[in-house]
Amino acid sequence: MNFYPLVVSDIIEETSLAKSFTFEIEEKYQRLFQFQAGQFLSLRLPWEDSYLDRCYSLSSSPDKNRHTITVKRVKDGRASNLLNDSINVGDIIDIAPPSGRFVPTSHHRPLTLFAAGSGITPIISIIKHTLANTELAVTLFYANSNQQQIIFEQPLEELSQRYPERFNCHHHLSNEEGRVNENTINQFIESQLEQDFFICGPTPFMDLTENALQKLGVADQNIALERFISDAEPAANIDVEVANDIASFDALLDGENHTVPYLAGQTLLESMLAHDLKPAYFCQKARCGMCTVIKTAGDVVMRSSEILSDNDKEKGKILLCQSLPLGNDIAVNCDAD
Ligand SMILES: Cc1cc2nc3c(=O)[nH]c(=O)nc-3n(C[C@H](O)[C@H](O)[C@H](O)COP(=O)(O)OP(=O)(O)OC[C@H]3O[C@@H](n4cnc5c(N)ncnc54)[C@H](O)[C@@H]3O)c2cc1C
Repeated sequence: MNFYPLVVSDIIEETSLAKSFTFEIEEKYQRLFQFQAGQFLSLRLPWEDSYLDRCYSLSSSPDKNRHTITVKRVKDGRASNLLNDSINVGDIIDIAPPSGRFVPTSHHRPLTLFAAGSGITPIISIIKHTLANTELAVTLFYANSNQQQIIFEQPLEELSQRYPERFNCHHHLSNEEGRVNENTINQFIESQLEQDFFICGPTPFMDLTENALQKLGVADQNIALERFISDAEPAANIDVEVANDIASFDALLDGENHTVPYLAGQTLLESMLAHDLKPAYFCQKARCGMCTVIKTAGDVVMRSSEILSDNDKEKGKILLCQSLPLGNDIAVNCDAD
């Protein structure tokens, strides 16, 4: 992963807990930093004798060629408070180019987006881009603890006024209406199921919304999820015996079947990279989800897998960067979505 020094060109205080940071992209980096609505940047921030790598979704629309992230403070969080407290216009931050799969792909079904708290960041980028570039209807359900914590309240209001026929923005405030529950989601959706759904927010909100949609009969391929998992999450203690002695595993990548020699003690991703096979991957810390593939045979154990829902796991999804073999005959499909 390569990082590039980008200058902070603008900072906006969005709420008492969140700030937006815009970066100047020099001409020579323009192509590298092209992005799709819904993608994120990865920042490398100096921390004590080392550094912290953190992903932040772009809240700006790619149409404006503006690269803005919006960072909400996490209680006792290192990077989020460092950014909110200590970064000024003119500072330089090392940043890796945009990445991520939380992007609309079908472009022919209306969008319904569920956001909570800072989960609005990739969602607002998708909203702005979709309204400006398609004729699709866009519906937003946005949950916050109270009105003061609504990030982008005014831009959302402006979009509602600009696209009254196509954009429906619904705010849910838990201090007035209680926490979001399955009923809230069901009532909001009514029978509008022929949509593409996007969900981003804290894990309980995402799980609740995803489960509610599934119970209503929405197909998994029409539900996109972006989880803001933090680095501080401890890796699981692996208390099963890993099969370090397996010779190889099978990987379907770009339509070709490969027999990948397994490197003892390494993850499936590390073994693939060592043999010049490059599946999609990014953070290698179980946070970005880029290396999610389908395991079609055999057993693996993941060091950390919080980013995957139970439903993902039932479908055989694994993170290549976290997977260690438990036995022979493992096969993965890196081409499946
Ligand atoms: C794809 C993606 C996109 C994201 N987009 C956004 C975005 O647009 N906006 C946004 O605000 N966030 C976003 N995030 C989340 C962001 O990357 C960080 O995870 C978040 O800012 C918290 O980082 P931090 O360094 O402040 O917290 P950390 O320092 O990592 O701490 C997180 C929590 O762990 C606790 N903790 C800290 N250190 C330890 C420790 N040693 N042991 C135990 N617990 C500890 C802290 O108390 C805190 O509660 C995104 C994440 C991903 C994966």
